[in-house]
Amino acid sequence: DKGLEKSNRSFLDKMSRAVVGKTKVDDEVLDELEEILITSDVGVETTIKIINRIEERVARDKYVNSSELDKILREEIMGLLSENESSNFEGLSIPTLPNGDPYVIMVVGVNGVGKTTTIGKLAYQLKSKGKKVVLGAGDTFRAAAVDQLQIWSDNTGVPIIKQAMGSDPASVAYDTVQSAKAQGADVVLLDTAGRLHNKINLMNELSKIKRVMQKVIPDAPHDVMLVLDGSTGQNAFEQAKQFTQATEVTSLAITKLDGTAKGGVVIGISDQFQIPVKYIGVGEGMDDLQVFNKAEFVDSFFK
Ligand code: GDP
Repeated sequence: DKGLEKSNRSFLDKMSRAVVGKTKVDDEVLDELEEILITSDVGVETTIKIINRIEERVARDKYVNSSELDKILREEIMGLLSENESSNFEGLSIPTLPNGDPYVIMVVGVNGVGKTTTIGKLAYQLKSKGKKVVLGAGDTFRAAAVDQLQIWSDNTGVPIIKQAMGSDPASVAYDTVQSAKAQGADVVLLDTAGRLHNKINLMNELSKIKRVMQKVIPDAPHDVMLVLDGSTGQNAFEQAKQFTQATEVTSLAITKLDGTAKGGVVIGISDQFQIPVKYIGVGEGMDDLQVFNKAEFVDSFFK
């Protein structure tokens, strides 16, 4: 697909340059590879892990030459991404709960990362698959957030539950799950406020939202999805750290992978935080949200 290929195209170019004129994988090649991975935003920890594994393989299988490097690298990256694959997520098919309750996805992330857009795209795609979706405008701190979600609701015909600006987000969450349950909805997509300046507040707010919605659906939320902007590199890592400390994040959506040459952030974050990447954003349109497919993603690095 175009978005991802563009995103990762420069990767193989750099790789090829690193191995030009080389017959075997030596320290120089590994150093270059390390730099390529780091500049692709794979992150230092994950880069070192990958380099160490390749080093071991090179030492063990003496025959490894530089033309095999991309094959080995591909295998190692696939391995890392598989380590935290969740059997829970099968494409867009949201699990059906045995008691008939709606599957509640609480969406978290800082402002500007593409949270609202991701919710809107997901609502659209789920509805197209025949799912009954309800949106909850839980970011009651920004008028723009509610307005934007309302626009997605209008455009997709997916109902939205909202309250006045400044009202308690937990109260919106309560209304949303109650209404969704009463309507026999399949999925709830609950937006939340993404204010990171005070971690204790964030922690308290998110746990209150959970506690209150659990009065209606005791095992909700079934998924806490963190949205990260893939084009922001180290910021995305930092946000993942903050949010995983504030609440139990169970899946990731990584946006804006269309405009960047740094898709490596997907590999680093999924490895470092051991949370499966569920969706990737590759544009602003309704269809530009893809179910993450690790083989396709890794291929896009090597095309
Ligand atoms: P929020 O503040 O986190 O809710 O962010 P928004 O959903 O309002 O998105 C911020 C901006 O990023 C908007 O202009 C979106 O159209 C844009 N955006 C969101 N996802 C993507 C994506 O995958 N690719 C691109 N190119 N833009 C995106």
